[in-house]
Amino acid sequence: DVLDETPRAPRIVAVVNQKGGVGKTTTAINLGAALAEIGCRTALIDLDPQGNASTGLGIGKAEREKTSYDLLTGDADFHAVLAPTHVPDLLICPATGDLSSADIEISTTARRSFLLRDALAADRLRGTGLEVVLIDCPPSLSLLTLNAMVAADSVLVPLQSEFFALEGLSQLMLTIREVRASANPDLRIEGVVLTMYDGRNRLAQQVLADAKDALGDLVYDTIIPRNVRLSEAPSYAQPVLEYDPLSKGSIAYRALAQEFMARADWKEPIS
Ligand code: ADP
Ligand code: MG
Repeated sequence: DVLDETPRAPRIVAVVNQKGGVGKTTTAINLGAALAEIGCRTALIDLDPQGNASTGLGIGKAEREKTSYDLLTGDADFHAVLAPTHVPDLLICPATGDLSSADIEISTTARRSFLLRDALAADRLRGTGLEVVLIDCPPSLSLLTLNAMVAADSVLVPLQSEFFALEGLSQLMLTIREVRASANPDLRIEGVVLTMYDGRNRLAQQVLADAKDALGDLVYDTIIPRNVRLSEAPSYAQPVLEYDPLSKGSIAYRALAQEFMARADWKEPIS
């Protein structure tokens, strides 16, 4: 079938929430691994100077030769920064601490918000065979996060099931509107996923109900439960799908991958 040979542009999805500790990195790693498991070739760009996604996928500091810093500064091409993980079909562009200075270094360049978009231009993605690119963002609405939102087709928002979760969300929605108005008119909201959910907790139930009221169908049906296996897996440098394939965390992220694919809204093939 000639259509099967046409490379498609991957869906570029920024995992964003300016709050720390809400499950961005956990979602990026495990959604990435779950997508790869169903044969959807995925790359994860670690855009957080803390490099938690890189560590969590077993890329030690010494192994991080070409990084997202090189990608932003134009020192390396997308092909050159992609490293394999031990999960087949899951690649990573790692991050190192020098990314924290990139924020300041790039702030004086003319295309400061467009650096990642330029690095991920269609012609640079050709030949990678990627279907999805996930960008794990730092816990801020900094220039790094802005670069992710300008480069992305959509934003995926992990929402921790706790008080104040929705307050941060309105700030994020405002930023998305600003990005649409200034740099990326087609930026969509991929979905909002409740994380660390404990169904016995009435506050968590309330956050879920409020999120559905405010966001409707944007809230994924899949809810990520609080699961200790998810928090243990990174110290074994594994996605939870490898560390404990039958855990509740694994089951939830597999379901999220299915829902993510079912919402697929493929872009035009790369021409
Ligand atoms: P962020 O990237 O938004 O800062 P992380 O993904 O690093 O957040 O998660 C913060 C902490 O919570 C980490 O220690 C992580 O292992 C833990 N964690 C994330 N999701 C879950 C979950 N569903 N159940 C239990 N622990 C979780
Ligand atoms: Mg993180």
